[in-house]
Order: sequence, then structure tokens, then C-alpha cells
Amino acid sequence: MSELTNLTIAEARARLEKREITAAELTDAYLAAIEAANPTLNAYVAVTADKARAMAAASDARLAAGTAGALEGIPLGVKDLFATEGEHTQAGSHILDGFRPPYESTVTANLWADGAVMLGKLNMDEFAMGSSNETSHYGPVVNPWRAEGDDKALVPGGSSGGSAAAVAAWLCAGATATDTGGSIRQPAAFTGTVGIKPTYGRCSRWGTVAFASSLDQAGPIARDVRDAAILLRSMASVDDKDTTSADVPVADYEAAIGRSVKGMRIGIPKEYRMDGMPGEIEAVWQQGIAWLRAAGAEIVDISLPHTKYALPAYYIVAPAEASSNLARYDGVRYGLRVPGRDLLEMYENTRAAGFGAEVKRRVMIGTYVLSAGYYDAYYLRAQKVRTLIKKDFEDVFEAGVEAILTPATPSAAFGIGDQDMAADPVKMYLNDVFTVTVNMAGLPGIAVPAGLDGKGLPLGLQLIGRPFDEETLFATAHVLEEAAGHFAPRRWW
Ligand code: GLN
Repeated sequence: MSELTNLTIAEARARLEKREITAAELTDAYLAAIEAANPTLNAYVAVTADKARAMAAASDARLAAGTAGALEGIPLGVKDLFATEGEHTQAGSHILDGFRPPYESTVTANLWADGAVMLGKLNMDEFAMGSSNETSHYGPVVNPWRAEGDDKALVPGGSSGGSAAAVAAWLCAGATATDTGGSIRQPAAFTGTVGIKPTYGRCSRWGTVAFASSLDQAGPIARDVRDAAILLRSMASVDDKDTTSADVPVADYEAAIGRSVKGMRIGIPKEYRMDGMPGEIEAVWQQGIAWLRAAGAEIVDISLPHTKYALPAYYIVAPAEASSNLARYDGVRYGLRVPGRDLLEMYENTRAAGFGAEVKRRVMIGTYVLSAGYYDAYYLRAQKVRTLIKKDFEDVFEAGVEAILTPATPSAAFGIGDQDMAADPVKMYLNDVFTVTVNMAGLPGIAVPAGLDGKGLPLGLQLIGRPFDEETLFATAHVLEEAAGHFAPRRWW
């Protein structure tokens, strides 16, 4: 394992600028690390070694010429949900077998325009549906963290499980991810990494395989808060190819790091204190409150009364949109085709063979809640609940609260196979209890590591912010990070 892969993005950037290291050396170090670890961790579904080396050589030329971009020579992993021109893009699914898009997503194009190097595509839950990476056609990802004295394989969370595991295991300097109901923040919490879901509309959705279009947002997973800020600045943009892209200038997020939280009002929502929540989650939350108070923040108790309806409403809205978005996978235009006697049978055979069980469940739920006779009772009602959830947040922000602190997840990482989704999918859905509200309201949320549980596994805290105020989240998360310290797994793979 190379020392080069231990560098954060900020550290690597400084050493590349000073020409102490080359982008080629850094990329080779990561490619070697991936080759050694991937058979065990399964974080990458495709490694683009030749492309990475060519991009690194081009970065070295720009560094020498003094024309380096903001991410020049930084090797990144890309969630398999982002279209990458001519490269593996299957959203963790069998139905997109062999699909290599003739175009590049806006988010990844922004990264390459800033000089980043693409290492490969990262494993994920199929179509981003899941909380454990176990629904991937490519098999589960193994979390680089293990409980003390126990070699049982744990999940890295999902759906961005490959992204989180690769960042935690030093298999990329940072990664792209997406979050529809928690898929950046929950895996970040399970792997001791930092993940931010920005405000809806901050990153373009163009070229990102759609799951639930009104909730999907791209964001980074990184080793620390500063690296997450550096990555988000490059990923975010105003894009006329996405009608929901917000026409708001992208801020210099890194500049917010180090900003004081003195006098800042931070809300603690009483509804996030759930029955049956493990004592260790409550303890880490209290610790976070104490750290922010010690840094001069004013802690205020708040109420978000519709919180308890967020999860059931999400599991109507998200499948409804998914059932519509996934209608395009019919064996005609791309990916897998399983022949039949006629067109209809070809559709049926292709979708039956191409989608996994969880995706089929979502398509069936979504189709049901949108069908005539049930639309008003389920979909319309869920949309009304969504409006109330959004209003809960607007009310507390209007009352002067600048950020909200909650746990990121209701537990630490669990074992592969532990929460058997086939037996009880609702158990898996409960992982999203603290994160879905943020997607329903379109707000930014960041997960930051805050401590270890009794078994030595990482636990995360979540900060929720006002629309387009990612800067406050970076500033506040950095205060928590400074207090908590950094967490890294012991290398066993
Ligand atoms: N776990 C949630 C789901 O399965 C969220 C997924 C996501 O954010 N992409 O829908």
C-alpha cells in the first residue's frame, strides 16, 4: 500500500502543484491499490486503467505548462449511475448489460474539465435502490471496516456503497455519488467518510441514470470535509441541459472551512429521537451538541412535526417516479434483450430477466400507487405530505435556525445478509429514517463522522441546511470534524 494513496485531495493538490509528485505516480498508486483490494472489497465494477493513465499524462503536461485546473491530476472513482462516454454505465443492473453511452454526464464532464482523473466505475445498489449495496447485479461491496475482534463482512451502506468503500479503503482520492433518500449520507456514515447531498438543483442531473427525478441529487463522498468542499465546487454547475438545474452561482465552498459557528443557531429536532434508537446513537448526537455548544453555537430545541410521515411518503413518491423512469428499459434501445414470440413477450422477458427483485418491487409499488382509483389515495396524498414536511423546515429556518443537527443513521454498519430484504424490505427502508426528509424538502444535508461505537465501527452525524447554504454545512461539519478527529479502518484486505 502506497503512501501516495493516503494523501487527501488537498494534500495531493499541494504536492502536485509543487511538482513533488506527478499525476502519473499518483494514478499508478491508486491503480495498484485497486488491483490488490478489489477482489476482496468489490468496490469497482470497471477499472479504466488506460484512460486513467492517459488523463494523468495530460494532467502532468498541464501542471508543467502552468495551466492546471482545480482538480488537476486527482484520481477519482465514479458511481456507475453517471454516464461516462464509451465506458461501462449500468447503474448496477443486468438490464443495461454492455451499455456504453455516447455521451458524458454533466457532473463528470465538470470534473474532467477541472483536470480530475477517472479510475473507473463504482459498484452500487441496482438503480440506486437500496441501503446496503446488496441489490447490485455485481454482488455486494464489503465495508473496509470490521467490528473489533470479528472478521464478519459488513455492508458499506447504499446505494453509493462502492463510492464509500473505495474512499474509505484508499482506492480513490474521492468519489461521485448520488442521494435520492440517503444514498450519499448513509454509506458515508457507515464508512467513516464525509458525504454531502447538496440542495436539489445544485448539481445537474443530466446524464445521471434517473431513479426518482424530483429527489435525485449528485454529490461527493470524500475523506474529510475540506475534500468534500473541493469536489462539490467542481461537480456543481448551472446547466441548461437540466430544467431543474438552479440558476444560482456556485460558491467557493472550501473558503467556508474555518468559519466560526459562534452565535449560530443550531436546531435539535425532537422528532428525531426515535423509539428503540440505540443508546450509542443518542450518545454521539449528545456529543455533537456539546461540541457545537463549546464552539459557541446556540443550541435550540425545535419541532419538525411531520417527520414521522416522511418515510412512508418517500416510499410512495420514489417508487412512483421510478416506475415511470424505468419504463424505458424494454430491450429495444439499449442493454439486455431477451427474445420472445412477439414484441410484448420480448418486453416481458427482458424486464423479467434484467431487473432484480428490489427493482421489480419498486416498479410494482409505483405502478400501483399511480393507477386510476389509487392515485388520489396514495400518490396525491404523499405529495401533500411532502409539502408539509418542506413547510416544517421553512418554519424553523424562518425562526432563525441556520442548521439542524441529527444522527445520520439509526445504527452502525450491519452484516451482509443481516437485514434480508426479501424477508422484510421495510427493515431495510428504516435505514433512511433520518435522511429522506431532506430529499423530500430538497435541502442540503451532510454526513460527517463523529465517533466509533462500542465495537469500533464509525457513527455519523447529519447537518441539514437552508437551500443553497452548503457553506454553513461545510463550516459546521468542519467544527465537528476538528472535535471528533479522523477515523480510518485497519487495513486487513
Ligand atoms: N435507500 C433508499 C432507497 O432505497 C435511498 C436510495 C437512494 O438515496 N438512492 O430508496
